[in-house]
Amino acid sequence: MTNGLVCNIQRFSVHDGPGIRTTVFLKGCTLHCFWCHNPESIRPKLELQLHMDRCIGCGECVRVCPTGAQTVTSDGEMVFYREKCTACGACVEVCYAGARELTGRELSAEEVVAEILQDRAFYENSGGGVTLSGGEPVFQPEFSKEILARCREEGIHTAIETAGNVSWEKLSDVLTLTDLVMMDLKHMDSDKHKWAVGAPNELLKANARRIAETDRPIIFRTPVVPTVNATTDEIGAIAAFVRELQDHRAALHGEAAAPISLELLPFHRMAGDKYNSMGLTYQAKDIEPPTKETMVALAESAATYGIAVKNR
Ligand code: SF4
Ligand code: SF4
Repeated sequence: MTNGLVCNIQRFSVHDGPGIRTTVFLKGCTLHCFWCHNPESIRPKLELQLHMDRCIGCGECVRVCPTGAQTVTSDGEMVFYREKCTACGACVEVCYAGARELTGRELSAEEVVAEILQDRAFYENSGGGVTLSGGEPVFQPEFSKEILARCREEGIHTAIETAGNVSWEKLSDVLTLTDLVMMDLKHMDSDKHKWAVGAPNELLKANARRIAETDRPIIFRTPVVPTVNATTDEIGAIAAFVRELQDHRAALHGEAAAPISLELLPFHRMAGDKYNSMGLTYQAKDIEPPTKETMVALAESAATYGIAVKNR
């Protein structure tokens, strides 16, 4: 039995693959996109989130904290030293105001699958299933494989959302248990990719090509982020790459090969509070989300490359 670190299990998801799904967000990622919508999933360890606007000043957290991470000054000011916090959770237990929250749970694959199975009837009626997301599901390959294998045994459709910046050895191993791959493509220029997400793109492009060589459905996903990629040239370069992979697959498997498509997702600023609660700087706070008109124009432009494009 394999244990892993889970950020969240979201039931009744409708945006992470076909039908009604359970999305399991795993903790740990190999990239650091500066606008990340799930910053709580990046670091592969338990973390404390603080919502001090809910604090009623009872002082219980100070009383129980074993490391002195949470203190109060003689003036009654609450001071938190994140570097001293071991995420033991003692303060979360006693904070009845809900001002403290642990991000991440260590669960066994069996426990995760038990939760997934609760909604089996919804998957069957809607053509849904389970999606492993993150973070990066391949960051915990053995855990992911065990969840996917158990779901397969139960006849549940399996999908992963990967950033693709992982070794092919680990990714291909997880793919053997995956019915649908959703993979991020954020920029075709490697230098700009590195600036935006912290790593060049050669590895993930090579992985995308290898996935295209299998006959497995792929949805490439591009978060449209002004200053990063919200121009027709930049989205066009991504669309051209997807077209190249589509042609490559067709040459290997024929015109009836499994579909490849591109989905454009608009950047939003709803993650701002999460950054504050984790003591992180939100570098995307001044970026305006793309307008509906921009998203429509980018999708229309991408579709001219002869690929299926979905705009969300
Ligand atoms: S236990 Fe919660 S409500 Fe009480 S002082 Fe600490 S953070 Fe505030
Ligand atoms: S999680 Fe533990 S170490 Fe961190 S502030 Fe709370 S009681 Fe202290």
